[in-house]
Amino acid sequence: MKPPQVLHLDIDAFFAAVEEMLDPSLRGKPLVVGGLAHERGVVCTASYAARRFGVHSGMALRTAARKCPQAVFRRGRYHLYSRISQQFFACLRRFSPRVEEVSVDEAYLDVGGGRYLCRSVYDLAARIKAAAEAETGLKISAGLGFSRLGAKLACEAAKPGGLFWLHDEEEWISHLTLDKIPGVGPQTYFVLQGLGVRRVHELKSRYISLWKKIFAGHQRGGLERGRPEPANRSFSRETTFPEDIRDEGLLHSHLAYLLDRLAMQLLRERLFAGRVEVKVRFSDFSTFCQRAALSFPTYSYFQFWQSALPLLQALRTKKDLPLRLVGVKVEDLQAGRDILPFFSLRDEQLTAGIHDVKERFGASALRSARSMLLEELYPIERDGMVLKTASLTK
Ligand SMILES: [Mg+2]
Repeated sequence: MKPPQVLHLDIDAFFAAVEEMLDPSLRGKPLVVGGLAHERGVVCTASYAARRFGVHSGMALRTAARKCPQAVFRRGRYHLYSRISQQFFACLRRFSPRVEEVSVDEAYLDVGGGRYLCRSVYDLAARIKAAAEAETGLKISAGLGFSRLGAKLACEAAKPGGLFWLHDEEEWISHLTLDKIPGVGPQTYFVLQGLGVRRVHELKSRYISLWKKIFAGHQRGGLERGRPEPANRSFSRETTFPEDIRDEGLLHSHLAYLLDRLAMQLLRERLFAGRVEVKVRFSDFSTFCQRAALSFPTYSYFQFWQSALPLLQALRTKKDLPLRLVGVKVEDLQAGRDILPFFSLRDEQLTAGIHDVKERFGASALRSARSMLLEELYPIERDGMVLKTASLTK
């Protein structure tokens, strides 16, 4: 059987849980975050203890106070919640290249490539859940599914704090009443009931086009990419040398520098490259290119270097002449990828770390040792070296 590929995660009673974490005396008590009992406004989050009294988010604060007079009311510290929310998503992004933020405390993850990381997708889901819980200090519910809807419903069923996977997802969904389906509000449900339709399979068998409309988004297995694929896009950098170069070390330095710039550009645009190309021009103006497919789409400078160096070496043997130009190109750009490259995660984290430093302190703040020879040749400015080809330094 195909493994599930969508993981839905949801922090339990998020705002209330943060307040409880910071003030353990609140633990287990009915707690309402959103405002004080007499204030106008609505409940943002109710703790599970408060929910037992029928308090739920969206309810007027005064109504909540009537239903549960002993509840503790808090206005909420949203800057704090937002910080924890960022930690939550940062943690998830370490596990999957495709994370969709649904709200401050809810996310869909594409774990389709996870079989390379763990014994099973279920193990991977448990690991992600445990990591996110450890890093936020909060309880998180999780659901695995073949589709987003399946994952979401499994997560609902797992609340609070569990991890569920509905093996017979389709069967399970088909017997649900339609009010359980996200996107079907009370009014729609009322109308559907008027048509004599209460359950999903009834709608499907009798009003297929309506069913399609409601389920179009839910049926999707993989996550939608945030942006359209950048079809046929490529990034390239090249430079003509001030004087023709024969020295291998110096050529490698140029290659390293150019690849580093490309990696940073990919990171800035959040793209992965599937192929790398190296171009050389000899002193007699003859020009050659060679390209190699990367073993998986990446933005890792280190992967680029590993693939590009042999290309440069091969191109060098074409003629016994010095070079006047070297260029690099990354192609096959994509906004996401289906395979999680286990072995390159460290590489990519390192590349991303370098990128962060450069973004903050300027591209010259952190330079690879491989490109150090260039410092003899070119002036260094905050945003990089001033190579001979002006377009390079933009
Ligand atoms: Mg939640």
